[in-house]
Amino acid sequence: MTTTTITPAPHRLLGDHTWQGEAVCHNTEYNPVDPEIFFPEPDETDKITAAKSLCGQCPVRRACLDAALEGGDTDGIRGGLTEEERGPLHKKLAHRFDYSRVNATIAGRDVHLTTAERRAVVHAAYRHGVTEQRLAWLLKITEEHAQKLYREIRRALRNRDLPQNAETITSPATDGEHLGRDDFGTAA
Ligand code: SF4
Repeated sequence: MTTTTITPAPHRLLGDHTWQGEAVCHNTEYNPVDPEIFFPEPDETDKITAAKSLCGQCPVRRACLDAALEGGDTDGIRGGLTEEERGPLHKKLAHRFDYSRVNATIAGRDVHLTTAERRAVVHAAYRHGVTEQRLAWLLKITEEHAQKLYREIRRALRNRDLPQNAETITSPATDGEHLGRDDFGTAA
């Protein structure tokens, strides 16, 4: 018996459009696609069905949806969702919290992060002893800014631990042991 493993598509890199070459809706001589089906009126159910059918087979569906959300592209069908279906996601984007995006950033990918996700990256980096230089590279910020972010975490941990034991704060590696899932920011 053979087992098929489906690997999730990687997150889109900032400013990366290379995923478009893999799009099922990419109109070519050998793959003619009517772009009009992706811009239906709300009552044009045939077009909506046809477009969603293509999106359902598309290997870059997530990248497509992320690109639309992050680029504020509210027109047409993107990532398998109509304008109406995507509307609430556009409104909630600033509060999006996705651990897989946090982990991808820690692994070195330049993911488009929300504020909550960036905060989680800083906490996770601190917890795992990531240097300030590396954090600066991960978040595309200056080393001074990275140092400031780590200082803020140390201060928060010190304040939190003061009532129990003021002597427990020693190093980033041991400080990290006090961090729990709740420290990773506000989940949307
Ligand atoms: S998800 Fe749909 S709209 Fe997006 S690239 Fe794929 S086929 Fe095109």
